[in-house]
Amino acid sequence: MKKIACPYCRDFFEYSHNVILDINYTISHEICFTELNFEIKDKGSFLNIIEKYNVFHEILPKA
Ligand SMILES: [Zn+2]
Repeated sequence: MKKIACPYCRDFFEYSHNVILDINYTISHEICFTELNFEIKDKGSFLNIIEKYNVFHEILPKA
């Protein structure tokens, strides 16, 4: 699996982490994202977000 890291804290995401998807399709931890950052497009668990958007399907676990 291709890993991606939070651009703020640099930790790799785990599937259970609560994350924010911004309008540039950047994923950040919900706790790292601040109101100074880009507009929010969606939020949820990391697994929920990568399943929902085709652009992230290459990092999904293989079925
Ligand atoms: Zn973070």
